[in-house]
Amino acid sequence: MQDENTLREVAKDCVHCGFCLPACPTYQLWAEEMDSPRGRIYLVNQILDGAELSSAAAEHFDRCLGCMACMTACPSGVQYDQLIEAARVWTEEARSSGPAPAAEEPADGKRPVRDRIARAAIFSLFPYPRRLRAMTAPLRLAQRTGLDRRLARSDLPSRVSPVLGAALRLAPPGVSAAEARPLPRRVPALGTRRAVVGMLTGCVQSVFFPRVNAATARVLAAEGCDVIIPRGQGCCGALSLHSGREAEAIAFARRTIAMFEQAGVDAVVVNSAGCGSAMKEYERLLRGSDGGWAERAAEMSGKVRDLAEFLAELGPAAPRHPLPVTAAYHDACHLAHAQRITRQPRDLLRAIPGLTLVEVPDAGTCCGSAGVYNLLQPAAAGELGARKAESVQSTGAPLLISANPGCSLQIAFALAERGQDIAVAHTAEVLDASIRGRPLLD
Ligand code: SF4
Ligand code: SF4
Repeated sequence: MQDENTLREVAKDCVHCGFCLPACPTYQLWAEEMDSPRGRIYLVNQILDGAELSSAAAEHFDRCLGCMACMTACPSGVQYDQLIEAARVWTEEARSSGPAPAAEEPADGKRPVRDRIARAAIFSLFPYPRRLRAMTAPLRLAQRTGLDRRLARSDLPSRVSPVLGAALRLAPPGVSAAEARPLPRRVPALGTRRAVVGMLTGCVQSVFFPRVNAATARVLAAEGCDVIIPRGQGCCGALSLHSGREAEAIAFARRTIAMFEQAGVDAVVVNSAGCGSAMKEYERLLRGSDGGWAERAAEMSGKVRDLAEFLAELGPAAPRHPLPVTAAYHDACHLAHAQRITRQPRDLLRAIPGLTLVEVPDAGTCCGSAGVYNLLQPAAAGELGARKAESVQSTGAPLLISANPGCSLQIAFALAERGQDIAVAHTAEVLDASIRGRPLLD
């Protein structure tokens, strides 16, 4: 988190023009000034001026998706990401410390016991691929027997905890044993070697979307990269960083930095928008750290590339086979707004013969996934998911391409709710199918 003087300088850049308000999904939902970027900046200023963090202010910070659409919209270049990051740390410290009140709506703004248990469960499960993987066997069994659908339809899980209800609704389909096999530590370049890259496998991506990681490695190898995939990868820290759990985020960041330093790679390629965005923030997260960590973090952040960004910089080498399909492209917020990567994936996809790319109306608006927002704020996330599904459906495309596992799950669920049979694939899977000349999602 930035120091208070820096935060004051950042907040000062806001000239209160309100241009960001129409772009903000939570302002679109509730038309409430304090649920807009300008309102939240006002609250940050109050706290910097010495005000106590009220329970109402904490709630407004909790409701922010962290989608950064406001940063894209802001003509004054306000670095809202730094402000909300600090606000989340304050909120987490104020709301989750001390004894938990038993009441559902405690007057002192502390999180109730049920909320704390749900958060503890999320943060002791999602950043740990081994623990997540242990969940997949009972999940597969529930999906095979139809128990998951019966539970999701009943309101019992939501009565126990809204987080549990949301988790059951959004649970991804199981993966086969063959898909779940770990990737080799090194996938050699095909043809002339053009680069040596590390690949982040991610937590949710590696457990629930291993085919995306396999496709990513194949595409990179086909484009002339030696792909180094360190074993025992853990969380990059994205979930913790975007949830105000700073110490935990720093620990995950240091571990990830050390792991890729050992790999000795030119670049670290990331196929999950939220993870890539967090790893590019390591420099800021560890700024001022001793023991050489500040420098190491800056160097690592400089090496991180989103898959589409990396491939666009490298330029194509592998021939593409035709893929006759009309596809809509979904901009993940942490790609489009946080990393400002919108052109590269579109260029890569448009270069595939036979593929027609169409735009989703309101492409810059969050789908409601936002890390674990759809678990913690299920009602707001559900409304945003439904709006996104309606936009996707309006394109008429039978395929949606998304570069973030959370967005894929969220939109696939919202489309299914509308009875829409629209396939969802990652950019890597589409490129892989074209390069190999194989049907998509084969
Ligand atoms: S990050 Fe997204 S939800 Fe939060 S204030 Fe900005 S636009 Fe609104
Ligand atoms: S954050 Fe930017 S767009 Fe929003 S009110 Fe402030 S200056 Fe205007």
